[in-house]
Parts: sequence; structure tokens; C-alpha cells
Amino acid sequence: MKFQPRASHFIDGEYVEDTNGAAIEVIYPATGEVIARLHSATPAIVEQALNSAKNAQAAWAALSGTERGRILRRASDIMRERNYDLSVLETHDTGKPIQETTVADATSGADALEYFGGLAASLTGEHIPLGGGDFVYTIREALGVCVGIGAWNYPTQIACWKGAPALACGNTMVFKPSETTPLSALKVAEILVEAGAPKGVYNVIQGYGDVGASLVSDPRVAKVSLTGSVPTGRKVYAAAADGMKHVTMELGGKSPMIVFDDADIENAVSGAILGNFYSSGQVCSNGTRVFVQKGIKEAFLKRLSERLAHAKIGDPMDEDVSFGPMVSENQMNIALGYIEKGKAEGARLVYGGERIERDGYFVQPTVFADVTDNMTIAREEIFGPVMSVLVFETEEEVMARANDTEFGLAAGVFTNDLTRAHRIVAGFEAGTCYINTYNLAPVEAPFGGSKMSGVGRENSKLAINHFSEMKTVYVSMNDVEAPY
Ligand code: NDP
Repeated sequence: MKFQPRASHFIDGEYVEDTNGAAIEVIYPATGEVIARLHSATPAIVEQALNSAKNAQAAWAALSGTERGRILRRASDIMRERNYDLSVLETHDTGKPIQETTVADATSGADALEYFGGLAASLTGEHIPLGGGDFVYTIREALGVCVGIGAWNYPTQIACWKGAPALACGNTMVFKPSETTPLSALKVAEILVEAGAPKGVYNVIQGYGDVGASLVSDPRVAKVSLTGSVPTGRKVYAAAADGMKHVTMELGGKSPMIVFDDADIENAVSGAILGNFYSSGQVCSNGTRVFVQKGIKEAFLKRLSERLAHAKIGDPMDEDVSFGPMVSENQMNIALGYIEKGKAEGARLVYGGERIERDGYFVQPTVFADVTDNMTIAREEIFGPVMSVLVFETEEEVMARANDTEFGLAAGVFTNDLTRAHRIVAGFEAGTCYINTYNLAPVEAPFGGSKMSGVGRENSKLAINHFSEMKTVYVSMNDVEAPY
């Protein structure tokens, strides 16, 4: 098998196998064929990985930030050099079109390695002068062993978004990809070693949720960073709390995108397409509740349908294809189930709505109009190519409706009224907001959610605070005064 890795896990600088672990079949979503067979980590493998990360951590943290950063930046360069091969792998792991994976996966991972590699040398504490000559200085310290747990939609990116800031701060990592997409994280581990990372600094073990759970509850682990659904986030957060561990939770969303009647319709339609159908809709920050102001509703829907007719659906390895399959049969069935609910609850299907008759797990880009706030498709995260279009009349009304959700990951507004745009964004209950665009996540900008969508932020300088802590050192320059 062309994509079969040398072994299932990557621990202490090398590939490791334990065939006693439960079987994991990796399926190419465009055809349904098995492209690799792996094993879930046994308790012995979990133990080996955690020991390796624990043993490597002190020496890694003792390197200068410049040295750690150099390794991360070298890894970034290697990822860019191999972008095409890594993208082919990612396309087979996830089913996403090669047109997407060549620009949004290994490249995004490389951005994170480069950015945090660049920051590593400048991570410092501060000097705080006090009265009478006393002063405090702070030391920025690594947390220790960090666990990263990934979802299946951006496997390379998630492995790097968690690994790069963790390693820059002097932590080591055990990363567990989703069992649906286990292949790319192994390549990230390989590349880090090739770039000079000492063995044990970045380990990858495979497994189902139980493996993730055993990592989270282990006392050697200082921090857990999860990208996943809200129900999993709840469990992981609770387990981490038991050990008072640091957490970053990047969870789901049901984000609003508001289109006012003064907006540039072409741009708004482009934003709605990017925010609903990129990666076949399997993006956490998607703006799946598209609120369109009454006066432009029909024009918006017409243009949207015209543009969707140009989506090239097919073999994701074909560079012209812009819309691929869903990641798995299971995820496809979830999306199809929501489409049926949309129809049953009275939403008006204006585009798509069916499985595509071909091998693999293809669902048509689907648009529902006349969606109301209480319909299931407007309340629950679908994680598939299903857009709900809702109509609104006034700014006050749409603001309240947009925020009427337990989620708070992202939100967007399209308008040419500058003050209204900023007013709307100020009112959004969401961690990541967009004005006249949607779904961009550059490494320089904080990314993450509020409300049920998460805790903490990835990317940007803020991520450093989530992978390090401050030690305070009070220095007295005076005699010690005591009451007796
Ligand atoms: P899941 O929540 O099902 O799984 C996420 C990861 O957690 C997987 O690796 C999973 O392993 C693991 N896991 C499951 N149960 C446990 C447990 N009890 N303890 C520790 N780890 C566990 O999400 P999906 O993989 O289905 O991904 C889709 C979800 O991810 C969507 O809801 C989406 O919104 C969210 N997401 C959020 C993003 C963000 O940045 N906010 C980005 C991308 C996705 P296994 O798969 O083997 O069960």
C-alpha cells in the first residue's frame, strides 16, 4: 500500500509498532479503498510515549530559544520543500482536493513552525522594579509534557499548530491524531527529527478516544490541547481539571455570517462559499447561518446558485477539482441526516441536497433558504456542506439572532457601512470575527472560540501564554523586617 507508514507510532525519534493494538483502517474518502492499516496504541505504547516525552523535556527546555527556534524553522523549510508530497498524503487521508491541500495544510503547518520558531528566541520574563531597590523578575518556563489531540479535518495543520508553540516554549509533546486521519502527523514527527529535534521531543501515537483519554488523565502530563467537538471537549476538560492541567479547547461552532443589503454581493457570495463549502464544509469556524437582509435575499440566492454550479466536483487528485468527498462514510451520513431534517422541518432546498452517485463519500453542496432560528439545521453543528440562509430586517434583530447560540467560535459581517461593521463586530459573541471576508486564519492572529466553542487561543503571541507559565522571583536589596 502506497501510503502505508513504516509503523503506527513515532516515539523517541523512531517508528514503533505494537500489533496488539486495535486495528485502524485508513480509507481514501474519494474511493472507499483502504490505503493503510495501523494499530491503536496499547497501554505499553502510551507508556513508552509519555516516558520518552518526559525524559526529553528538561534537556530540550535547557537549549536556548535560538537553538529551539532554528530547529522549528528548519522543519518549516523541509515542509515547504515537500509540500506537494505532503499534500498528496493529506488528500488521501482526508479526501480534500489537492487544490486545497497544497495551499492550506502543510503550508499552514509550515507557517506555524516558522512563526513560533521565530518567536522562540525572544520568549522572556520581565523585570519589575519595586520601592526601595527591591525588584521582581519573572522567568517564563515550559509547562512540561503537553498532549495534543486532533480532529480529522486539518490533520497536518493541527499537529503543527499545537506542536510548534509547545516546542518553542521548551515543552515536549505527545500528539494523538484522529484515527480517521492518522497519517500526516507521523510525517510532521519525522520532519522535526530530520530538522534536528532531539528524540522524544515530539511523539505521535495513534488511537481511538480511549487512548486520548488515557493521555489526558496521566499525571506526567501538564497540558492538554484538543481540537474536537463540544461533547469531547467537555470530557477532556473535566478529566484535565481533575489533575489541574492547563487546557486549550478548540471546539465546534455554528457561526453566523451577516450580509447587509449594502454589501458587495459578489464578495458576500464568495465569503459564504468559502465559509460553507471549503473542505466540503468540514471546517469548525464555518459561517453556516447566513443571515441575509430581506431586500437582497433573492439576488443573493440567485448568484449563489449560479456560482455553485461552477464547483468542480470529482477526483480530489485532479488539480481542477474544487469540491471533494466528505472525510468518511459516517460523516457523510451525518450530513445527509441533517439534510433530511432540513427538508422535514420545512426549509426550502434551493441547491443540492443529495449524495452524489459515484464511489466515495460525496455530498452535493447544499443550500437551504427560508430557514428559521429553531430549525435543527440552524442550531446544531453539521460539519458538512450544508448552508442555511435566514432572512432579517433590522440590525438589532439580526444581532440578537446571531448571538442566540451556545457556540461562539467565529462570526462575520458583509457591509459597506464602516461604522456598522465595527458596531456589529463589537456585539458578536465570538472569538474570531471577520469584516467583508470569511474563514482566514493566519498564524499571526489569535484563533479560538468563546462560549461553548472553547477555551484559550491558538496561533499568535497569545499561544505562548498557553504553553508556558511565569515563575516570579522577588529579590530583596534590603534587610528583612520581621514583627518580632
Ligand atoms: P471528536 O471530538 O470526535 O474527536 C476529537 C479528538 O478527540 C479525536 O482525536 C478523538 O479520537 C479524541 N477523543 C475522543 N474522545 C476522547 C476522550 N474521551 N478523551 C480524549 N480524546 C478523545 O471530533 P472529530 O474528530 O469528529 O472532529 C470534528 C469536530 O472537531 C467538530 O465538532 C469540529 O467543530 C471540531 N473542530 C474544531 C476546530 C477548532 O479549531 N475549533 C477545528 C476543527 C474541528 P477518535 O477520533 O479516535 O475518537
